[in-house]
Amino acid sequence: MNISLIDIGSNLTHDSFAADRDEVIARALEAGVRRQIVTGADLASSTQAAELAAAHPLILSSTAGVHPHHAQSFDTPLREQLCNLLQLPQVVAVGECGLDYFRNFSPPEAQRAAFAAQLEIAAEVRKPVFLHQRDAHGDFTAILRDYRTRLTGGVAHCFTGSRSQLEDYLALDLYIGVTGWVNDERRGQDLRAAVPHIPSDKLMLETDAPYLLPRDLAPQPKSRRNEPGYLPHIARTVAQLRGESLEAVAASTTRNATLFFRLDLPRQESLSSAGAGGRLG
Ligand SMILES: [Zn+2]
Repeated sequence: MNISLIDIGSNLTHDSFAADRDEVIARALEAGVRRQIVTGADLASSTQAAELAAAHPLILSSTAGVHPHHAQSFDTPLREQLCNLLQLPQVVAVGECGLDYFRNFSPPEAQRAAFAAQLEIAAEVRKPVFLHQRDAHGDFTAILRDYRTRLTGGVAHCFTGSRSQLEDYLALDLYIGVTGWVNDERRGQDLRAAVPHIPSDKLMLETDAPYLLPRDLAPQPKSRRNEPGYLPHIARTVAQLRGESLEAVAASTTRNATLFFRLDLPRQESLSSAGAGGRLG
């Protein structure tokens, strides 16, 4: 079967991929994962993600942003460096950004400030936002609502919520990113119930690798490491839950991601090659 998928959330800069990153990318291609959006979570990983994307022009794109865990690091110099990264054509979205009150690695106040600042950046650079939310639904939707009309678009990455949270996100015209959380019959119950209600033109797929190894993947890799090449497994589960064919889910999610991240725009390779060999400034 010849399917073509896009993994919109791949943490390829993670240390666990340091030894075999090229093989991981090759395995993903063989499995039909034609593109990955490499997630940036702080300045270092956003820079590395942009460099990786520059080195693999038709296969990788990247995001640049500060995860709520790192919100305390957000200051004016960092803001400027993020804006510089976001000028690069391979850097297609702002994020991941948002709120995470589950562990509060950064104080909630710092999280809200860094989130609002990144929404402001997204409005300025006219790129969509890649959003992270955990245990902060109320504050998250309230802040987002303030900026929504100025944003070109947003995707709620790794959506794990209920039907009513889904409705709140759809009311904000967000796209919904579904991970292998959906393959967990116990933990993923809410999500499994919500997945059939995601409109076809709002659905995207992601592995969040190396995190969230699909629980029902057989055999389970000894490393317990998730890989972008497992995305077809997630896509098959999503298709089953929706009563659609794998081909239909592949076609709609690939179309949505291509439009959302503007992946069909020709890249200025002269610009992106600046990141391939050297530093990004
Ligand atoms: Zn996240």
